[in-house]
Amino acid sequence: MERFNLDGEKIKPLTICLIGGGGFIGSHLCEKLLYKTQHTAIIIDISSTKIKHLLRPYSCWFGRVQFHEINVKRDTLHRHLEPLIAASDLVINLAAICTPANYNTRPLDTIKSNSVDAIPVVEFCIKYKKRLIHFSSCEVYGKTIGSFLPKDHALQNVSELYLLKEYDSPCIFGSIDKQRWTYACAKQMIERLIYAQSALHSLEFTIVRPFNWIGPRMDFIRGIDGPREAVPRVLACFTGNLLRGKPLKLVDGGQSQRSFCYIKEAIEAVLLIIENPARANGKIFNVGNPENDVTIKQLAELMIEVYADVTKQPASKFTTIDVSSNNFYGPGYDDSDKRIPDMTIINRELGWKPAMRLRTILKLCLDHAINEYKSAIKNECDSLLEFHTGYEYFSGSE
Ligand code: NAD
Ligand code: UDP
Repeated sequence: MERFNLDGEKIKPLTICLIGGGGFIGSHLCEKLLYKTQHTAIIIDISSTKIKHLLRPYSCWFGRVQFHEINVKRDTLHRHLEPLIAASDLVINLAAICTPANYNTRPLDTIKSNSVDAIPVVEFCIKYKKRLIHFSSCEVYGKTIGSFLPKDHALQNVSELYLLKEYDSPCIFGSIDKQRWTYACAKQMIERLIYAQSALHSLEFTIVRPFNWIGPRMDFIRGIDGPREAVPRVLACFTGNLLRGKPLKLVDGGQSQRSFCYIKEAIEAVLLIIENPARANGKIFNVGNPENDVTIKQLAELMIEVYADVTKQPASKFTTIDVSSNNFYGPGYDDSDKRIPDMTIINRELGWKPAMRLRTILKLCLDHAINEYKSAIKNECDSLLEFHTGYEYFSGSE
């Protein structure tokens, strides 16, 4: 079926190279491209676990998807990367180390992955005249101006001090010993490189700044489909603890705020960016849902409520505990206080506005997690109960 973009132009099938396309966002984006469009996806990643359902032979989209298991960091002389970029119409770079626990414990890897490894991608896009959609982060804004004011200061409620705007807000990071900011700083550096290259070499680009997109397949549950010692992002941390009946840990009391956006709505924005180059080129877009702005404590309370409801258990069975960031993440951790996106630009250029409220999103996420992990959690409980009493297991800390 013919499809048309926002300017009424017929959408031509594109060959899209998705670097890091096997991750959380990539897997949802590839689903959308393969199920709902005629575009072809060339996926580069070190893992295909999250996209294996898309790589099955004999599916009706099979001829439109390729997976290349490539670690871009180890692709000496870019022998694999370069021809795949040359063969595409559009390049989308999603590859990154992007879980905060890594920012201060693996600062060098974080810096390289989010800046140095992306440089050849930009250069090949210039060399072969390919359009680039680069995934940056809302984290480039860092802390808000308001965070430096006393908590009860009259200016706290002035939206200019906290609403994050692509072309107005400053990027405020903590001091160098707060290695949390390695990620934000590396993302900012590559944004600046892309911006400069576009002025010098007419690189066609769009920068996407996601604001806490969440949904199924985000990260992993510790000790089940990921290492027990690794720390995923907050949705997976809280989900794992709920599944195991353990307290949800609130870092420094869970007072930081985040605006959560459902992945499938965010993917609609990405598709609009892909298919409306005349409106999206040369722009930076915040993509998030300011209506779903909560503190992490409120997120934990809502997840408990929804999980109790879905599993028909009393909410009083689930608790939260406060932990210090130093204990949870180690030294060097710091945090963004508030992250509320201004949505004027994407709304004006592409007419995108998300609608899904946080409670509905969390229900979808938790339903999915229960289905996905219930047998693994049951096996884990059964084997642990052979060694421990139930009381020790369910009340123990991690
Ligand atoms: P993700 O970790 O699920 O996906 C990243 C993918 O990149 C992974 O599949 C990983 O294997 C791959 N990758 C990493 N290093 C690689 C390498 N050297 N070679 C090949 N592949 C490599 O994370 P995500 O949430 O899907 O994020 C995708 C992008 O969006 C990242 O750039 C991230 O910084 C950005 N982002 C996401 C969010 C969000 O809300 N999820 C927020 C801000 C920014
Ligand atoms: N967080 C928390 N408990 C956890 C995991 C994370 O309180 O078990 C907090 C973390 O300190 C941060 C927020 O949740 O304030 C969001 O963290 P996430 O890792 O999802 O990524 P971020 O939004 O910081 O990039």
